[in-house]
Amino acid sequence: MSDEFIALSVPNLKGNELKYVTDAVETEWVSTAGPYVSDFEKKIAEYVKAPAAVSTQNGTSALHVSLLLCGVTREDAVIVPTLTFIAAVNPTKYIGAEPIFMDCDDSLCMDPVKLKKFCETECDFVNGNLIDRTTGRHIKAMVVVHVFGNMADMEAIMDIAREYNIKVVEDATEALGTYYTEGRYAGKFAGTIGDLGCYSFNGNKIITTGGGGMIVSNNQQVLDHAKHLTTQAKADQANFIHDEIGFNYRMTNLQAALGLAQLEQLEDFIKTKEANYHRYKDAIDKMDGLHVQDFRDGIRSNYWFYSVVFENDETGRDRLIEELKENHIQSRPIWGLISDQVPYKGARCYELEKAPWYWHRVVNVPCSTNLDEAGVDRVLDVIRNFK
Ligand SMILES: *Cc1c(COP(=O)(O)O)cnc(C)c1O
Repeated sequence: MSDEFIALSVPNLKGNELKYVTDAVETEWVSTAGPYVSDFEKKIAEYVKAPAAVSTQNGTSALHVSLLLCGVTREDAVIVPTLTFIAAVNPTKYIGAEPIFMDCDDSLCMDPVKLKKFCETECDFVNGNLIDRTTGRHIKAMVVVHVFGNMADMEAIMDIAREYNIKVVEDATEALGTYYTEGRYAGKFAGTIGDLGCYSFNGNKIITTGGGGMIVSNNQQVLDHAKHLTTQAKADQANFIHDEIGFNYRMTNLQAALGLAQLEQLEDFIKTKEANYHRYKDAIDKMDGLHVQDFRDGIRSNYWFYSVVFENDETGRDRLIEELKENHIQSRPIWGLISDQVPYKGARCYELEKAPWYWHRVVNVPCSTNLDEAGVDRVLDVIRNFK
């Protein structure tokens, strides 16, 4: 059997990447001013059927600007998931606002039942503002993460958000290509349902620009403001007049050249990820005490990450990761809860139950689009022989 290293999730750059990047270098357009940037923005907007898109340096900066565009200030609170990557939460603190940590459901995304209960029982709705009774803070926004390429329950979440006048930032950094096939949002892509949506093109995401991000919205005015904030808030470019505190967050032409080549392959990447997902799932679901977590019914997922769940055994997670490592296979546990991390000690949490349960039990197994069937089978062999 092959002993070659199998990585968890690595870039796949076998399309026009070199051609477009070479062109950017040869034409000497490498900074944020190059033509690939607006081209990539246009192509992403077309792909997710948004009116437009605004590029950023990464997903984190996209989230930062999105929260500012929701009007979040240091006086406010933002509802966030606890079972996620920390970049979904840190931008709330960049602004000086406070997070309120919400539980997940079995989709691993935010639990709308608890969200509603929190709004109903822990808050007062005063003059159109939702106020957390415990802290007195105005809950202006929430960050909804579409975990591992799944879709959060956006029908229920948007109903709650509209009822309580909360802005919704969709963290679709893991879910580019995921869309609803059924229901009220049929045909709608992750990121295009809330007030703003954010994508990431980090090296481990489904397509990569090395590092990069994108903001989408259905509101052109919001997008114009996003562009303004990401480009140093120039009121009069020629005369260096600025009317706000802006950021140097725009993507560079080199990044966008990569992105354009990657986007051409996105649907093929999803096909590979889907096939590998089913190969894992068909085998693992037959094993005792293990299953691969489903994606939501009524969606087309991008199948970004696969979650193997230890149903009864809390020690299995770390032992399997070790065992895979000994076989030159990279895997990882799901994230540590953000509400348990040092900078968030003492933060407001609401009835966290499922998130800690999944935290102890989920292993993410290799899911690169470079992974072939033989690779999946090698991982499966280790899991099959695991005690
Ligand atoms: C990757 C990721 C981000 C941040 O994206 P970067 O481009 O790495 O800044 C934010 N939230 C989640 C859930 C992510 O997985």
